[in-house]
Amino acid sequence: MYTATNTRILVPEFDYVRPSSLPVALAELAQTGRQNRPILGGTDLLVQMKMERRTPTCLVDLNDIAELRGIAMTQKGLSIGAATTIRQLAGAQAARDHYRALVEACNAFSTVPIMVMATIGGNLCNASPAADTAPALLVFDAAVELVSQAGRRTLPLHEFLVGPGETALRDGEIMVSVRLGRPAQGTGSAFIKIARVAADISKASAAVSLVRDGDRVADCRIALGAVAPTAVRIERAEACLAGKRFDAEVAEEVAEIVAQDIRPITDVRATKEYRRTASRAIAMDALKTAWKRAGEGRVA
Ligand SMILES: Cc1cc2nc3c(=O)[nH]c(=O)nc-3n(C[C@H](O)[C@H](O)[C@H](O)COP(=O)(O)OP(=O)(O)OC[C@H]3O[C@@H](n4cnc5c(N)ncnc54)[C@H](O)[C@@H]3O)c2cc1C
Repeated sequence: MYTATNTRILVPEFDYVRPSSLPVALAELAQTGRQNRPILGGTDLLVQMKMERRTPTCLVDLNDIAELRGIAMTQKGLSIGAATTIRQLAGAQAARDHYRALVEACNAFSTVPIMVMATIGGNLCNASPAADTAPALLVFDAAVELVSQAGRRTLPLHEFLVGPGETALRDGEIMVSVRLGRPAQGTGSAFIKIARVAADISKASAAVSLVRDGDRVADCRIALGAVAPTAVRIERAEACLAGKRFDAEVAEEVAEIVAQDIRPITDVRATKEYRRTASRAIAMDALKTAWKRAGEGRVA
């Protein structure tokens, strides 16, 4: 006997294929009259299938496709294959050297068994408002590379994330990689997450990346997670900070704008009032940490 919320067993039957090339995977996904679905780590999809929220006809496992693997740093910035696991990204030297907020977001990710299975592509394509990598990627102006049989396109991450569980992915399209610009000299960044317990998804998260020029903030990005339908940049707060001398008073002013501009809801994890208060606090802490790191003389 099972119920629709029994997460221990997988009831509906489905096919499984594991192509080793992108064209074959795209052909599998393009088959008409079937609900074929990509899978990477399965840490979101298998839970949804067990709860019968998704019932794909065939799982197309993308893990053997070379183009979805690897992390590479160039003059332009970082390229991360969609099948890169959260654990691999947390340990990647290029990420540790230049994208500290992203590494902190990966290290805040649940437990090691989840980190070794979960991927950056799955985290973004699942489009949870609480996805940990999303705010950290937004502050580095990330873009995603998408491929289908119709061709290839690149979208800024903020356009890719449309709503809870909703992305700009078209039918039959695969996310191949995530691209980040190279941070300017004098950049510091930080990510902070609040969750009920370490293994849980966030009640609220904040990421900041800023460029320090002496005692002023030359440029900045501020993004929040789990407090709006998608991870969001708070552009009014960024505009308030850019060009200003950084001190505790300015940090407080900026954090107050963050608290005003988010759109939190009440759910099982937290009330909207809690989320607003917590967001103000973590935005301020992330700002101060990013500022301090920006003064350490290396891009982080
Ligand atoms: C116990 C537990 C704890 C968790 N803790 C956290 C946490 O702390 N922070 C957090 O952010 N998340 C957490 N999650 C959620 C989940 O682990 C992440 O969202 C993870 O990154 C999903 O990646 P995946 O590779 O497992 O995705 P999958 O489950 O394989 O796929 C997710 C979705 O993306 C689609 N998809 C996958 N790859 C592609 C692609 N290349 N192109 C197009 N579509 C694709 C799939 O069809 C599916 O709809 C947790 C989940 C569990 C079960």
